[in-house]
Amino acid sequence: MSPDELPAVWLGLLERPPPCPELVRRTLDGARGADRAPQVRYAVGNRLREAARTAHAEMRAPTAADFPDPTDLEPEQRLVHRAGALGYLTLFPEPAVACDVPTDPLVFDDLGVRMFAPRDLVVRTAGGTVEVRRLQVSGRGPQLGTGALHVLALVAARWSPPLPSLRVVVADLLALEITEALVEAESAVLAATEWVSDRHRALVDASLGAPKSGEQCLRCDYVWDCTLHARSRRSAR
Ligand code: SF4
Repeated sequence: MSPDELPAVWLGLLERPPPCPELVRRTLDGARGADRAPQVRYAVGNRLREAARTAHAEMRAPTAADFPDPTDLEPEQRLVHRAGALGYLTLFPEPAVACDVPTDPLVFDDLGVRMFAPRDLVVRTAGGTVEVRRLQVSGRGPQLGTGALHVLALVAARWSPPLPSLRVVVADLLALEITEALVEAESAVLAATEWVSDRHRALVDASLGAPKSGEQCLRCDYVWDCTLHARSRRSAR
Protein backbone atom coordinates (compact mmCIF):
# COMPACT_ATOMS: atom_id res chain seq x y z
CA MET A 1 0.00 0.00 0.00
CA SER A 2 1.42 3.41 -0.91
CA PRO A 3 1.68 6.05 1.87
CA ASP A 4 -1.21 7.94 0.23
CA GLU A 5 -3.51 4.97 0.70
CA LEU A 6 -2.74 4.35 4.37
CA PRO A 7 -5.58 5.01 6.85
CA ALA A 8 -5.36 8.53 8.25
CA VAL A 9 -5.44 9.30 11.96
CA TRP A 10 -5.39 12.72 13.55
CA LEU A 11 -4.15 14.24 16.76
CA GLY A 12 -7.53 14.45 18.50
CA LEU A 13 -8.18 10.75 17.85
CA LEU A 14 -4.85 9.76 19.37
CA GLU A 15 -4.96 12.21 22.21
CA ARG A 16 -8.44 11.76 23.65
CA PRO A 17 -10.06 8.65 25.06
CA PRO A 18 -11.24 6.55 22.09
CA PRO A 19 -14.73 7.87 21.27
CA CYS A 20 -16.58 4.89 19.81
CA PRO A 21 -15.29 1.45 18.79
CA GLU A 22 -16.97 1.51 15.39
CA LEU A 23 -15.64 4.97 14.59
CA VAL A 24 -12.14 3.82 15.55
CA ARG A 25 -12.41 0.54 13.67
CA ARG A 26 -13.59 2.14 10.46
CA THR A 27 -10.97 4.84 10.69
CA LEU A 28 -8.19 2.29 11.16
CA ASP A 29 -9.63 0.35 8.21
CA GLY A 30 -9.14 3.46 6.08
CA ALA A 31 -12.77 4.44 5.63
CA ARG A 32 -12.20 8.08 6.44
CA GLY A 33 -11.62 10.08 3.28
CA ALA A 34 -8.15 11.56 3.04
CA ASP A 35 -9.46 14.66 1.33
CA ARG A 36 -12.20 15.30 3.83
CA ALA A 37 -13.67 18.76 3.42
CA PRO A 38 -12.34 21.32 5.92
CA GLN A 39 -14.78 21.81 8.78
CA VAL A 40 -16.72 25.05 8.89
CA ARG A 41 -15.79 25.59 12.53
CA TYR A 42 -12.16 26.03 11.51
CA ALA A 43 -12.88 28.49 8.68
CA VAL A 44 -12.05 31.66 10.63
CA GLY A 45 -8.88 30.26 12.21
CA ASN A 46 -7.69 28.96 8.84
CA ARG A 47 -8.34 32.35 7.23
CA LEU A 48 -6.46 34.20 9.97
CA ARG A 49 -3.51 31.84 9.73
CA GLU A 50 -3.25 32.23 5.96
CA ALA A 51 -3.54 36.03 6.21
CA ALA A 52 -0.73 36.05 8.79
CA ARG A 53 1.35 33.79 6.56
CA THR A 54 0.92 36.21 3.66
CA ALA A 55 1.74 39.15 5.93
CA HIS A 56 5.04 37.47 6.75
CA ALA A 57 5.96 36.68 3.16
CA GLU A 58 8.91 38.94 3.86
CA MET A 59 10.60 39.97 7.10
CA ARG A 60 8.26 42.64 8.42
CA ALA A 61 5.70 43.43 11.08
CA PRO A 62 2.06 42.62 10.22
CA THR A 63 -0.46 45.44 9.74
CA ALA A 64 -4.26 45.66 9.79
CA ALA A 65 -4.22 45.78 5.96
CA ASP A 66 -2.89 42.22 5.96
CA PHE A 67 -6.22 40.97 7.35
CA PRO A 68 -8.89 42.06 4.85
CA ASP A 69 -12.50 41.40 5.78
CA PRO A 70 -13.45 37.91 4.48
CA THR A 71 -16.63 38.95 2.67
CA ASP A 72 -17.46 35.38 1.71
CA LEU A 73 -17.86 34.30 5.35
CA GLU A 74 -21.01 34.68 7.45
CA PRO A 75 -21.47 37.98 9.35
CA GLU A 76 -20.76 36.28 12.72
CA GLN A 77 -17.60 34.73 11.33
CA ARG A 78 -16.47 38.10 10.00
CA LEU A 79 -16.84 39.61 13.45
CA VAL A 80 -14.70 36.86 14.93
CA HIS A 81 -12.20 37.32 12.10
CA ARG A 82 -11.92 41.04 12.87
CA ALA A 83 -11.37 40.37 16.57
CA GLY A 84 -8.86 37.63 15.75
CA ALA A 85 -6.92 39.90 13.40
CA LEU A 86 -6.71 42.52 16.11
CA GLY A 87 -5.56 39.80 18.49
CA TYR A 88 -2.80 38.73 16.11
CA LEU A 89 -1.56 42.30 15.71
CA THR A 90 -1.57 42.71 19.49
CA LEU A 91 0.19 39.46 20.33
CA PHE A 92 2.64 39.35 17.41
CA PRO A 93 3.59 42.95 16.53
CA GLU A 94 7.24 42.15 15.76
CA PRO A 95 8.77 41.54 12.33
CA ALA A 96 9.02 37.91 11.24
CA VAL A 97 9.22 35.97 8.00
CA ALA A 98 7.23 32.81 7.22
CA CYS A 99 9.22 29.59 6.76
CA ASP A 100 8.44 27.13 4.02
CA VAL A 101 8.17 23.73 5.72
CA PRO A 102 6.97 20.33 4.46
CA THR A 103 3.25 19.78 4.92
CA ASP A 104 2.95 16.23 3.65
CA PRO A 105 1.54 13.67 6.09
CA LEU A 106 3.65 11.87 8.67
CA VAL A 107 3.83 8.22 7.66
CA PHE A 108 4.12 5.46 10.28
CA ASP A 109 4.90 2.41 8.16
CA ASP A 110 5.22 0.07 11.14
CA LEU A 111 1.74 1.03 12.36
CA GLY A 112 0.21 1.18 8.88
CA VAL A 113 -1.21 4.69 9.35
CA ARG A 114 -0.42 8.25 8.42
CA MET A 115 -1.23 11.51 10.11
CA PHE A 116 -1.90 14.88 8.54
CA ALA A 117 0.71 17.43 9.59
CA PRO A 118 -0.63 20.42 11.52
CA ARG A 119 -0.95 23.53 9.37
CA ASP A 120 0.51 25.93 11.88
CA LEU A 121 2.23 29.12 10.86
CA VAL A 122 6.01 28.74 11.14
CA VAL A 123 8.08 31.91 11.22
CA ARG A 124 11.65 33.03 11.79
CA THR A 125 11.80 36.08 13.99
CA ALA A 126 14.21 38.98 13.50
CA GLY A 127 16.32 37.44 16.28
CA GLY A 128 16.64 34.19 14.26
CA THR A 129 14.34 32.02 16.41
CA VAL A 130 12.16 29.58 14.50
CA GLU A 131 8.70 29.63 16.01
CA VAL A 132 5.60 27.55 15.42
CA ARG A 133 2.53 29.73 15.89
CA ARG A 134 -0.70 27.87 16.54
CA LEU A 135 -3.57 30.34 16.25
CA GLN A 136 -6.79 29.60 18.10
CA VAL A 137 -10.02 31.61 18.26
CA SER A 138 -11.95 29.88 21.02
CA GLY A 139 -11.77 32.63 23.64
CA ARG A 140 -11.17 29.90 26.25
CA GLY A 141 -7.44 30.50 26.43
CA PRO A 142 -4.65 28.72 24.54
CA GLN A 143 -4.85 24.92 24.49
CA LEU A 144 -1.61 22.97 24.15
CA GLY A 145 -1.52 19.28 25.04
CA THR A 146 1.41 16.88 25.29
CA GLY A 147 0.27 15.09 22.16
CA ALA A 148 0.55 18.26 20.09
CA LEU A 149 4.14 18.71 21.25
CA HIS A 150 4.96 15.12 20.30
CA VAL A 151 3.52 15.61 16.83
CA LEU A 152 5.39 18.89 16.39
CA ALA A 153 8.64 17.15 17.34
CA LEU A 154 8.01 14.60 14.58
CA VAL A 155 7.10 17.32 12.09
CA ALA A 156 10.19 19.39 12.91
CA ALA A 157 12.44 16.35 12.51
CA ARG A 158 11.70 16.46 8.78
CA TRP A 159 12.67 20.07 8.35
CA SER A 160 15.85 20.99 6.59
CA PRO A 161 18.14 21.96 8.15
CA PRO A 162 17.15 20.12 11.36
CA LEU A 163 16.66 22.38 14.37
CA PRO A 164 18.16 21.67 17.79
CA SER A 165 15.08 23.18 19.43
CA LEU A 166 11.75 24.59 18.42
CA ARG A 167 9.73 27.30 20.08
CA VAL A 168 6.00 26.61 20.10
CA VAL A 169 3.62 29.49 20.75
CA VAL A 170 -0.10 28.82 21.06
CA ALA A 171 -2.18 31.97 20.95
CA ASP A 172 -5.85 32.45 21.63
CA LEU A 173 -6.46 35.52 19.50
CA LEU A 174 -9.75 36.31 21.25
CA ALA A 175 -8.61 35.84 24.84
CA LEU A 176 -5.33 37.63 23.99
CA GLU A 177 -3.35 34.98 25.79
CA ILE A 178 -0.40 32.90 24.74
CA THR A 179 1.28 29.82 26.12
CA GLU A 180 4.75 28.70 25.08
CA ALA A 181 6.79 25.53 25.07
CA LEU A 182 10.24 24.55 23.90
CA VAL A 183 10.64 21.28 22.03
CA GLU A 184 14.16 19.86 22.17
CA ALA A 185 13.91 18.35 18.74
CA GLU A 186 16.49 15.56 18.86
CA SER A 187 15.63 14.13 22.27
CA ALA A 188 11.89 14.58 21.71
CA VAL A 189 11.60 12.39 18.63
CA LEU A 190 12.04 9.04 20.39
CA ALA A 191 9.46 9.90 23.05
CA ALA A 192 7.11 11.19 20.34
CA THR A 193 7.41 7.98 18.31
CA GLU A 194 6.71 5.89 21.41
CA TRP A 195 3.72 8.06 22.25
CA VAL A 196 2.19 7.55 18.80
CA SER A 197 2.77 3.77 19.05
CA ASP A 198 1.18 3.61 22.51
CA ARG A 199 -1.83 5.65 21.47
CA HIS A 200 -2.25 3.62 18.28
CA ARG A 201 -2.21 0.41 20.35
CA ALA A 202 -4.92 1.88 22.58
CA LEU A 203 -7.01 2.63 19.49
CA VAL A 204 -6.62 -0.90 18.16
CA ASP A 205 -7.75 -2.26 21.54
CA ALA A 206 -10.66 0.18 21.64
CA SER A 207 -11.79 -0.75 18.15
CA LEU A 208 -12.94 -4.21 19.34
CA GLY A 209 -16.09 -3.12 21.15
CA ALA A 210 -19.64 -2.36 20.05
CA PRO A 211 -20.60 1.08 18.63
CA LYS A 212 -21.33 3.68 21.24
CA SER A 213 -23.52 6.66 20.45
CA GLY A 214 -23.01 10.04 22.04
CA GLU A 215 -22.06 13.61 21.34
CA GLN A 216 -19.31 12.39 18.98
CA CYS A 217 -21.98 11.13 16.54
CA LEU A 218 -22.69 14.75 15.56
CA ARG A 219 -19.28 15.01 13.91
CA CYS A 220 -18.87 11.41 12.85
CA ASP A 221 -18.21 10.69 9.16
CA TYR A 222 -19.97 7.33 9.45
CA VAL A 223 -23.25 8.47 10.97
CA TRP A 224 -25.23 7.68 7.81
CA ASP A 225 -24.37 4.03 7.67
CA CYS A 226 -22.92 2.99 11.02
CA THR A 227 -24.40 -0.23 12.36
CA LEU A 228 -25.96 1.42 15.41
CA HIS A 229 -27.83 4.11 13.51
CA ALA A 230 -28.77 1.81 10.63
CA ARG A 231 -30.36 -0.48 13.25
CA SER A 232 -32.28 2.45 14.81
CA ARG A 233 -33.51 3.56 11.40
CA ARG A 234 -34.71 0.05 10.57
CA SER A 235 -36.62 -0.31 13.84
CA ALA A 236 -38.21 3.14 13.34
CA ARG A 237 -39.78 2.02 10.06
S1 SF4 B 1 -22.23 7.68 14.36
FE1 SF4 B 1 -21.80 7.46 16.56
S2 SF4 B 1 -22.18 5.31 17.00
FE2 SF4 B 1 -21.96 5.49 14.79
S3 SF4 B 1 -19.82 5.09 14.34
FE3 SF4 B 1 -20.06 7.29 14.57
S4 SF4 B 1 -19.60 7.72 16.72
FE4 SF4 B 1 -19.99 5.54 16.54
